[in-house]
Order: sequence, then structure tokens, then C-alpha cells
Amino acid sequence: MPIDILLDICRHLHPKDVLVLARSSKAFREILMSHTATSAWRDSRDNVPGLPDCPTHMSEPAYADLLFMKYCQSCLQPHAGTPFWDFHARYCKRCEADTTISLVDIKLPPRLLSIASEVLNVNEGRCHIPHVVKLMHEWNSLQEDSEAQDRYIEMRRTTIQDMKKSVRKMQQAISDNKRVDVMVDRLLAFGSHITSLPRDASKLYQPTLSDFAAMPEFRQDIECPNDTKLTEDTFVKFRAQLHNMIQRWQRYNASILALKLPVDEHILKAQGTGVLLLAMVCFDCTRCHQLLRFPEILAHDPSCFGQLTRDSLYKQALTWAGCCAPWSEQRFRVSPSFKRCEEIIRICRLDPFKTTRHDMDALDVRVCCDEGDLTRVLTWDKAMEEEHQRAVKGSAHATPVAAPQWRRATEAELSRARKAELAAARRLRKMHALQPYWCCAHCTHGLWSAGSIRAHLRTEVYANDDPTSLFLHPDGSRKMHGHVILEKPGFETEAGDRIEFWEW
Ligand SMILES: [Zn+2]
Ligand SMILES: [Zn+2]
Ligand SMILES: [Zn+2]
Repeated sequence: MPIDILLDICRHLHPKDVLVLARSSKAFREILMSHTATSAWRDSRDNVPGLPDCPTHMSEPAYADLLFMKYCQSCLQPHAGTPFWDFHARYCKRCEADTTISLVDIKLPPRLLSIASEVLNVNEGRCHIPHVVKLMHEWNSLQEDSEAQDRYIEMRRTTIQDMKKSVRKMQQAISDNKRVDVMVDRLLAFGSHITSLPRDASKLYQPTLSDFAAMPEFRQDIECPNDTKLTEDTFVKFRAQLHNMIQRWQRYNASILALKLPVDEHILKAQGTGVLLLAMVCFDCTRCHQLLRFPEILAHDPSCFGQLTRDSLYKQALTWAGCCAPWSEQRFRVSPSFKRCEEIIRICRLDPFKTTRHDMDALDVRVCCDEGDLTRVLTWDKAMEEEHQRAVKGSAHATPVAAPQWRRATEAELSRARKAELAAARRLRKMHALQPYWCCAHCTHGLWSAGSIRAHLRTEVYANDDPTSLFLHPDGSRKMHGHVILEKPGFETEAGDRIEFWEW
């Protein structure tokens, strides 16, 4: 692995993990303990908020070792416990006796005797021998020059005060870090109960760990005191509530989406959140401007909701546990093409306030738009998508793009379009095979292309030929339609009707 890439990876790791990595092989050790790695260590340390800078007398790896490891720094015994913060060192009980000395046993020069605790770090009456040795050496080098001695004493006082201040910050950061660690472990433990595997597309419409994390009762379980142990009982209780929590989340978000719809007597008449299933109802993601419908909107790309801030220990823990900002209706607005979508349903001679998506799909109609000698034939939802994109782009540009004149396809056009669509299907499938539209039923990794999910299933030794091992993400299935262009009769070329693909 190139050094730059290794260092870049380390910048995103916890310093503890960088340390473990550095100790895992000679090659890693050489790179990570070298001077070139200093900035990577520093960036990694920034991942733990609240830590004071590395003390000048320590290297970054030594500092990370002091903060996050448990070994005795003298004999390497694995459970040395908490460090002697004042000494910036960690020892086991036995080595503690060998590396520290009682203050009264130190033969200090007379000038330093009365101010010993101001020029040396003292912990429960004992001092760190390396510190004492250094002090004596430096003091002796001053050779009775009383002015130099004054300056030296002042310098030592400042150093000791600074060390004490940074020690308090370190202790706070370490206790925060421990708190975060405990919460991360709990989040991961709960997380493993949230998504039962194997999954299918319906699971995508359920809250993720990031969404659960925003629920008060869930948060309470994660934020209970550090020493509260999670038992099997905790999870049994949690699993018993899970169904209700999922339903409540879905119902709440559905009703809040329904409230976004324009207040219209027809809409009000439609029953509750059933209104979301109407064919004309679609939303716009204000970040990526995808047209979204219910319930697919609940499975919308988490990256559109952004990253969590790190302004609390809880959010830090969420970030370490891989959560992002929870799903939020604030990301969405009703598609600005709402009225035009209503019109498309009317063109199909249906009541827009009664017709659901399901009805439209069952009807198998097409809408057309004539452009010179060509006629574009689209499915109802492709036409709406076109309207949506035009409306979204229209609001970004000063001059609106001309609106197409839609009409319902005639029987003759419909049958020609079906033939062209059939011919297009194979090419479409090939094209979409390269897109990351697929989900693995056995894990919750992101999206895969058709080829890579096959390889993934093979390496994970799942039944590769089992059709339930993989499923199409709703974003993918929505895109797997083309639209076709028919040439006006009389102008038909030998190649027949052209097939085009509509990609956003
Ligand atoms: Zn030891
Ligand atoms: Zn989006
Ligand atoms: Zn998998």
C-alpha cells in the first residue's frame, strides 16, 4: 500500500487504532513511527475532541500510548490501569516503586528544597525518577550562577503549571472518551438487533440505527450510566418494542409528509396518509433533486441528510458507530411540478384525487408529446419525472424551459411503443447492470452493481442462485424504465422506431 494512502486512512482512525496498526507489522511500524507520519497522528488525535496538544517532551505515538493503552510502559505487563497523569507515564504496581521516589528522599540543592513541589511534579508525595534526574542535571549545569538559577526556577514553575493544566484536560478527555466508547458498544449491540437478516426491500422503509438514535427512549438506553450492563433481558425487551417503534416512525413521517401537501379540499377529502399513495403525489429532495414517492422516500439516500455534528458525547458516539443524521422530512418539499402531475393523470382520463400509483401501473397507459416529426412516448411516471426535472431546473434558471404538450397515446401508438420498449429492455438491463442499484439480503452494506453483488454473494458463500439473496433498491427499480421515440407514420426508417434512454 502506498504510504500516502496508509497515512490518509490513519487520519480517519481513532489514535488507539493507529497505535494497534503501527504495532501489527514491522513495515507499518517503520512508516507510522517515522517523522512523516506526525501530521497523520495529529489528525487522528483530532478525532477525539477535547484532547490537549501533544506535550512538547513527548512524541505523538507516545502520547497516544499514554492516553489510550493499558500496558505498563516499563515491563509491558498488559493491565497497568490508569496512568500517573502528573508524570505522563503509566506503570504497574511493581514498576511504580522502581520508577518513583519519595520527595523526602530526594537530596535537592538547598535553593530548591522549599519550592520542591513547584519545580517537580509530585503525586501523593512521590516524584518520577526520570523527572528528578533531568532536573538535577539541568540545575547542576547552571553552576552557581544565581541569575540563571532564578530564570530556571521561573521556567520550571511555568512548565509544571502548564503540565497540571493539560493533565486536567487529558483526564476530562479520557473520561469523555471512555463514555463515548461505552455508548458506541451499546449502539452496535442494539444495532445488531434492529436489522434482522436476511432482509428485503420492505426493510429499507424502516428506521435505521441513525433514526432509532433520535428516539428518546432509545437514547435513554444508550445514555444510561457507564456501569449499567446490557443484559439479554434488555434486548428481549427492546425486540418486543421494536415493531411498535418502527410503525410509529413510519406513521409519524407519513403524516408529516402528508401535511406538506397543498391544502386543497380534494386532498383533505382523501383519507389520511393514504393521500401519499396517489399517483400525482411526489416530492423533491432539496439536495439531490430526485423525484421521490412514498414509501421510497423513507429509504432515500442517507447522505442527503448530511453528517452529524459532534457537539455532544452522544453524537460523537453515533458518529463512531457509523450513524449519520437521521431521516428528516425537512429535506423534502412537494415537487414543484405538482399541478402538472395532476394534469398528466387527467390526460389519462382519470381522477387525480382518487387514482393511486397502483391504479396507474395497472392501467398501462402512455402519454405522448409531439416534437416535429417525432413523437415521444412515456410511461406516466416518466412523464412526471420529466415535469419534475423541468420544474426544478426552471426554478434555478431565469428562463423556464418550454413545457411539453402531453396527450394520451392512441391505441396504435401504444402498441408500437410496447414493441419498442420490449426491444429496449435488453439494452436497458445491460446499462443498468453497471449501476449500483442492488442490495444484499444478508448484510447491510451499501448498494452494489449487478456484477459486484454477484461477486459479493460468491465470496460470502451465500446461495448465489437464490433470488432472495439480493433485491433491487427502489431508486434503482424506478430508473429502470426507458422512454421511446416513435417516428410519424410515413417517415418510418428501416431501422424502425428509435429507442432512447432517459437518464437523470
Ligand atoms: Zn511494570
Ligand atoms: Zn436526495
Ligand atoms: Zn452481503
